[in-house]
Formats: sequence, structure tokens, C-alpha cells
Amino acid sequence: MSIYLDHAATTPLRPEVLEGMLPHLLAAGSNPSGMYRSAREAKRVLEEARRTVAGCIGAAPTEIYFTSGGTEANNWALNCLMPPAGRLLTSLAEHPSVLESARHLQAAGYQVSYLPVDASGSVNLDALAGALKSKPDLVSLIYANNEVGTISPVAEIAALCRAAGVPLHMDAVAAAGKIPIHVKEQGISLLSASAHKFYGPRGMGFLYISNVLRPAAMLRGGHQERSLRPGTENVAGAAAMAHALHLACREMQDEHQRLSRLRRYLRQQLKEIPGVRINGSPENILPSTLHLTLPGIRSEAALIFFDSRDIACGAGAACSLGAHGPSHVLLAMGQTPQEAACALRLSFGRETCQEDLDVFLTALRALIRRHRNTGNADRLYPSNV
Ligand code: PMP
Repeated sequence: MSIYLDHAATTPLRPEVLEGMLPHLLAAGSNPSGMYRSAREAKRVLEEARRTVAGCIGAAPTEIYFTSGGTEANNWALNCLMPPAGRLLTSLAEHPSVLESARHLQAAGYQVSYLPVDASGSVNLDALAGALKSKPDLVSLIYANNEVGTISPVAEIAALCRAAGVPLHMDAVAAAGKIPIHVKEQGISLLSASAHKFYGPRGMGFLYISNVLRPAAMLRGGHQERSLRPGTENVAGAAAMAHALHLACREMQDEHQRLSRLRRYLRQQLKEIPGVRINGSPENILPSTLHLTLPGIRSEAALIFFDSRDIACGAGAACSLGAHGPSHVLLAMGQTPQEAACALRLSFGRETCQEDLDVFLTALRALIRRHRNTGNADRLYPSNV
């Protein structure tokens, strides 16, 4: 039986979402710009999806812009408010789609400052308060960390930004559909999300931009998405994303409780395995993520071992495994490169049950035993990172 514990990387499309999506994929003449009945129907479906998405995060429909996913939404968010030689404030523990955009801005002459995070991955609020004194043009911070699962102190961050009069962008790709979001009540100016993290289709996301802002366009070439993100709309993708987000929000409370119970169970079991360290905030954490440091066992070795037992898990950001060395998030949290090379991220979802976790635990014990028997136990962390 194969076990999937990598929901933070992506989630399977819900069957009922696929079913609802198919007619829109197959519909003839479904370009919403047309002047005939099927086009009007496509336009209606698109605007209904926009209303649904807006309703799920406490925004107005005119504040939702459909994108190709979280990466595009983050890239746009970082660029759309920047005046010439503008200033961006972000953190060291952001997703690469934010960090790489920030580096690109820096190379183009913009000023970028990076806030530190504590050992749990949470941004330092004193550092934020201090940095806001220099009046950046935008603050961009992650809502919940995609690697370790720590949830940011959003209320405190937003209060500081509001007091300083600086717009706040939050990358909510790891949070949307899992924990409540209400952009108006929370004082968030821009927010990114991605459908494939909440059982919607891959390649679909959205950026919320508050109506009080005057954003620059992402692309040029048409009137779609209020002329700010032109291109023939992905009606089926938008409808499916809205459907998936609606279902996730409707089931959020129950699913949160169920996953929290599973997480507590696994945490308890892991505490009894010598050397295993649990990362992330003990309290402000996504119920679906449990991030570990394994004693002296490199991520790649662990992933290959689990894969041989048909257990899929991750090492952290799916995007950065292998190519870029140890996780920048773990390094920002104060881990050494040697420790960061021994990371394992387990992330649960709708189909995860306690039996899956027991199978994982049996495999983990076997992995640690095997590692001890091959004589690596004396070196707690590998030195050749
Ligand atoms: N931000 C975060 C926090 C993420 O986890 C991801 C996906 N790994 C992204 C942005 C990018 O989203 P997408 O895969 O939709 O481009």
C-alpha cells in the first residue's frame, strides 16, 4: 500500500472538483470575451469563481486576480507596487518565488532588507518594527512556512504595518484552505494562494490586491483581469480552484481537528525515538506539517529508503531539493548546514490516517536501526554537506 505524506508539495485533485471542471474544459466557445451565449456562460462561471474565492478570504470579487499559481502571484505582488528605486522588506525564510524576485529587484537597483527569523521560523517582530521606521514600499512575509509549518503572527505583523502605513503582502500558499484567512479583518493588502495546495488543479492560483491600491500590470496584451493580468482566462481552472477552496473552507474546522490529533499522535511517538528532533513552533503550526531532523541521516538517504517502502515524503521545499543544498529556511532558523542536510518533512492530508503514520514509524525505526548498524551512529550529523 503506498502512503503519501507530502501534501505540502502538492495535493491530489478532489474527484468532485475534477467532475465539476470537466464540462468547462470540454465546452465549445468558452472564451469569456465572445459575444455569444457559450461565451457569456463562460464569463458567468468565471465571475462566480471570483466571487467564491473572494468570499473564502473576506475580499471583494474585484480584488481577486487569477494567476497561473503561487509563483506568479508572488512575483507580481513584489513588483506591482514598487516605485523606481523602491524599498522592499521581506524575511530570510520566504519561498524561493519571493526570495528570487527580491534578489531580482535588488539587482535592478531596488533596496531589499531581509528580516531574521527565530529558531521556530517565525519572523522577529522587534526587527520588523525597527525596519518599518525606514518606510519601505512593501512588506512581504509568508503566512505559514511551507517547510516547517510555522504560522506567522499575522495580527501583530499587520498591526505594525498598518501603524507604519506600509502595505502588507502575505504568501498564503501553504496556509490557504487550511487555516482561516480574512484579509479585511486581518489588514492584509495583498495575498497569494495556489489551487494545487488545497486539492485544486496545478497551474492555477490567485493574487488578492486590495482595491485601495493601484498595482502595475503583470503582463500586457489584453483587457482580461482588469487589464492587469491579460490572457485568455482559464475558466475551468478558476471554477475548479473556487470549488476546491470552498470545500476546504467548509471542512476546515473538522479537518483541522482531525489533522491536529494525527499530528499529536505522531509527535508523541517520535519523542520516544532517540535523536529525532521536531522543528517549527510548538503552538503556532499547521496541523498538516511535521518537520524533523533525523540524527545523522541525510535527507536524500531517508527519502530513498522511504520510497523503497512506498512511502512518499519530502525534505522541505520540493522546489529546492537537491539543486540548492541545505534549506535556506533551516539555515535562517539557526541550524548548521550539517543539521539542515538531515531534514525530513511529513505533511498530511484528507486521506491520511493513523495506520499510515504507524507504517511510517515502523519504517523510520528500521531506517535508524540500519543507520546505526552501518556504523554512522557515532557521527550525529554528516560532515560532507
Ligand atoms: N509559496 C509557497 C509558500 C509555496 O509553498 C509554493 C509552492 N511550493 C509557492 C509559493 C509556489 O506556488 P506554485 O507551485 O503554485 O507556483
